[in-house]
Amino acid sequence: MRTITMKFGGTSVGSAEAISNVIDIVRESVEAGDKLTVIVSAMAGVTDALFNAIKMAENGDKWGYLSTADKLRDRHEETLNMLVPPSADRESTSAKINALLDDLVELCQAINIMGEATPRVVDAIVSLGERMSSKLVAAALRHHKLNARAYDAGQFITTDNNFRSANPLWDETQALIQQKLVPLIESGITPILTGYFGATRDGQIATLGRGGSDYSAAIFAAYNGAEELVIWTDVDGVMTTDPRIDKRARVLPYVSYQEVGELAFYGAKVLHPKTVQPILNKGILLRVRNTFNPTHPGTLIGPESEMVDTVIKAVTSIRNVGMLTVSGKGMIGVPGIAGRTFTATAQAGASILMISQSSSEQSFCFTVPEDKVNDVKASIESELAKEIARDDIDSVEIEAEVVIVTAVGAGMRGTPGVAGRVFTAMGDNRVNVLSIAQGSSECSISFVIYERDLKRAVIALHDLALETATVNGH
Ligand code: ADP
Ligand code: ASP
Ligand code: MG
Repeated sequence: MRTITMKFGGTSVGSAEAISNVIDIVRESVEAGDKLTVIVSAMAGVTDALFNAIKMAENGDKWGYLSTADKLRDRHEETLNMLVPPSADRESTSAKINALLDDLVELCQAINIMGEATPRVVDAIVSLGERMSSKLVAAALRHHKLNARAYDAGQFITTDNNFRSANPLWDETQALIQQKLVPLIESGITPILTGYFGATRDGQIATLGRGGSDYSAAIFAAYNGAEELVIWTDVDGVMTTDPRIDKRARVLPYVSYQEVGELAFYGAKVLHPKTVQPILNKGILLRVRNTFNPTHPGTLIGPESEMVDTVIKAVTSIRNVGMLTVSGKGMIGVPGIAGRTFTATAQAGASILMISQSSSEQSFCFTVPEDKVNDVKASIESELAKEIARDDIDSVEIEAEVVIVTAVGAGMRGTPGVAGRVFTAMGDNRVNVLSIAQGSSECSISFVIYERDLKRAVIALHDLALETATVNGH
């Protein structure tokens, strides 16, 4: 008997057909005697639709958000009806989903009147997708004689008040999971939990950031006694690059926690960047597998840094970033400019994705999400106003329409010549490199390049990865 936590992503619960696969996977595990905890995302596209509804409400587009609510109602209703025949359970599940959509309309009306949505209200709305899908999936499982019950994760994951990107309060969360969730699992229930959010101490829903259901699943796995965490998604595993950018992408049979951390941080959407954090040092196996191809073994993620002698294992990219360059002769040897710049960046609410400094020390540059770039520039200019007035600092320049491309692989550490090959590949493909940084763990190299060069750069680096990688033929 094993204790397993499984998370099913948006596409995996995105239609009645997909949910049928989920039912098969869950049933097989329960029939094998596993103690199972399930975390689900919203049906594919639902979270985006909820964010759009908020925008429509802010813009006074009443017809827009009412029609979104209607579409969501139809989609969940139809899916439920395809999976569960008429019954009391179907009625009550449908009533619960409808009540959540009534909440959506009410909250949108309030935003419409106020003209804007607070982060707290945003979280209350965008969490509705998971609150609906968990009830739907649990009802479908019950129809297949599984003892499944839907729970909102707010009962178990306590967070700080940092709405839209909340952080779990670990001790409280651990206690809640161990005291309230584990007994449910022990009693033979298969909990179907909402991904993506927890609740603050005073019970307000707070989301963990986009794509956060992976993180939710890892939080549950860390404290519910899980030996294994399986992230069920819509591709066969962690791949050498995003298959949407290069079709030649292949599944990696094994990646280390550290490598997957870099991959996720630098844009591989397959796992949320914080996923490994709660389960590190806990000996919990992490697997990424395909709901639509369940016989494929997927990718195993574990603590050992290397099992194969690959150099570049994978290539990732992040779009929608902006680069800022702070430069000036007076910066040489002036302590604290970088520190103050980064503090000013944090004050503008932006997190830094990558930093690099020119060897002359006359400038350094760093990248932040594109939508924050103007605020960050203003914040730095105000922080460094004196230095700018004295001409110690010439300027804070923005480079827009850039992307970050990253090559990841633990084998890069201590393998001479890799950086050279990587640069040559970029040069040979006429990719203009604006800045370079090596990850602190030395298992990644990142470049800032123009958006228009993205595909060429990814394919050139991916060529190198495919040359060296030992991958699953598939
Ligand atoms: P889910 O809804 O299951 O959480 P996501 O859409 O968040 O799924 O993540 C899976 C997607 O991540 C894949 O469909 C794929 O397009 C994308 N992706 C990007 N980079 C990679 C990579 N290196 N390996 C696998 N998938 C990747
Ligand atoms: N549904 C949420 C999102 O789209 C969380 C997730 O799917 O992981 O961001
Ligand atoms: Mg995801």
